[in-house]
Amino acid sequence: MSQAKLTIDLDAVAANWAALARLSGGAEAGAVVKADAYGLGMERVAARLASEGAHSFFVAEAAEGAALRAVVGPAADIYVFSGHMAGDAPAIEGAGLIPLLNSPEQAARHRAALPDHPFGVQLDTGMNRLGMEEDDWRASSGDLLPLQPRLLISHLACADEPDHPMNALQLAAFRRMTDGTGTRRSLAATGGILLGPDYHFDLTRPGIGSYGGLPFAEAQPVVRLSIPVIQVRTVEAGETVGYGNAWTAPRTARIATLGAGYADGLLRALSGRGQVYAGDTACPLVGRVSMDLMAADVTDLAHPPERLDILCPAQGVDALAGAAGTISYEILTALGRRYTRHYTGDGA
Ligand SMILES: *Cc1c(COP(=O)(O)O)cnc(C)c1O
Repeated sequence: MSQAKLTIDLDAVAANWAALARLSGGAEAGAVVKADAYGLGMERVAARLASEGAHSFFVAEAAEGAALRAVVGPAADIYVFSGHMAGDAPAIEGAGLIPLLNSPEQAARHRAALPDHPFGVQLDTGMNRLGMEEDDWRASSGDLLPLQPRLLISHLACADEPDHPMNALQLAAFRRMTDGTGTRRSLAATGGILLGPDYHFDLTRPGIGSYGGLPFAEAQPVVRLSIPVIQVRTVEAGETVGYGNAWTAPRTARIATLGAGYADGLLRALSGRGQVYAGDTACPLVGRVSMDLMAADVTDLAHPPERLDILCPAQGVDALAGAAGTISYEILTALGRRYTRHYTGDGA
């Protein structure tokens, strides 16, 4: 295990989720815990959200759902976005998962393999990623609705841009496809919750907002990532640091070599663009991020500390994502397996 320390504040996750649940108004708030709860650890995160009152969970694939079942107990509903894939029937049945059927083929597979097993349906309202197309749904709904699907869902492509015309188009398509079905409905992830009550329907699906990311600007920070300083050296003006001589010292500088790199999810795109923090003081990353190491200019610190933070209150997941030219989702899910994950708060 790396000595870099990843600390996850479960109280902050719970507070963010509860805030999004309140913003969901009369709708139930589910919890999206796919990809190991966005890299933060599904076991602790889902257990805490269950104790906070979450009852409906969403995962990407059946194997994640089977692992989740052991965490949240028999009563919770676990929905699977990828639906019913070939070979999934034992996991769906064994763990009592609810596949969100994405195509007529998946519907046929599900009814053949598990005719009495619950399911939901995912509808494509324009994102063209997952879900039944409107024509397929028109053709299938007569067979599927009498079997009482547990949920009809769709997903918004542009919900993080409130003024994007796609939002209203998808809302209209979802209504066209589901009004009058008498079935529970879900359209909103974090961004959709913030679009307001028209988008809430019966159940919302917050993910990133619970984990401290935009578009939920009011989110409390959840993650701290603290990286050990392995050594500190003086570099004279004109000397270079790291692969490709990518950085040349403009003055005599103190350079700290840090024990984490792109194999730990600190993207190589941060080379020369990111910074690390000693408390509130920023220290620029210099040279290229390498696999297990990176370097920071700590000249301005009186005493270089034993650790420098790359995720902390002074630099949250969206700020770091901005430096890397990506989004918080990728920063979080890239966090490597080498970190020991430490938890604080109830359920730690
Ligand atoms: C990932 C995902 C969510 C959660 O989205 P956030 O933006 O993280 O809140 C909800 N629904 C679907 C279908 C998803 O794939």
